[in-house]
Amino acid sequence: MNNTAFQEALTFAQQVSNPHSPYGLCRVLGIEIISDKPMHKDGYLVCRDGCKLIFVNSLIHNPHRRKFIVSHEIGHFLLHRDNLYCCDNILEIGTSSINTSHQEYEANRFASEYLMPQEELISLLPSKPLQFSDISKIASHFNVSMTSAALRSVKLSKSEDEILICYDGQRLKWFSSADRTLNLYDIPSHCPVDLSKVPLISDITGVWDSLYDGPVHQEIFQPFGNQKLVLLSGNRTSMEEAYCEL
Ligand SMILES: [Zn+2]
Repeated sequence: MNNTAFQEALTFAQQVSNPHSPYGLCRVLGIEIISDKPMHKDGYLVCRDGCKLIFVNSLIHNPHRRKFIVSHEIGHFLLHRDNLYCCDNILEIGTSSINTSHQEYEANRFASEYLMPQEELISLLPSKPLQFSDISKIASHFNVSMTSAALRSVKLSKSEDEILICYDGQRLKWFSSADRTLNLYDIPSHCPVDLSKVPLISDITGVWDSLYDGPVHQEIFQPFGNQKLVLLSGNRTSMEEAYCEL
């Protein structure tokens, strides 16, 4: 799917229903939502014999996650037009730093951009580096999870020097940044601070030197389970300089 077709589908979705309500959009599109059945997948989209159905795993209780899954399946419906999608491990991550198929990536990206329209989000972003207190307000405004709000806010940040990193335990899971030159291998694969002991907010030096020059503002947020989101801001090291030093 090219970017024009993606934008057309997104604009259509945002025009026909309240941008924040995938449930309203399903009503307009004539898609029935079935959410009282436990399943092995997060969600399904079935379009067959005139039926348009979205199944959401009843074992998933978090309302933000359910809303994201419905939006993800609407993404498949509008973008891909195949009869059946079985979606496992739907991630509120419109980032290509994780290993997923292109159609799953597009459906995640559609859900993220549908639930948090770009212009509206940009109007809520501070002109200083982002902190989790700003992201919490944005998450409440759009009624989405902190992870979704953090990912999209960092990508659209006005200061552009934040990096959001998700560690599972101490192990790198994914990252997001407005800096498109940054690659997964630029990020420490093992978190250089002990996430079980570090304060939730601190200014530190000498830890993230491969990414920043001088002091770094570091904030930690635990969305669920063993996962920790690390939000960094400071003076970014130029990757070109880092390369020249090698
Ligand atoms: Zn999917």
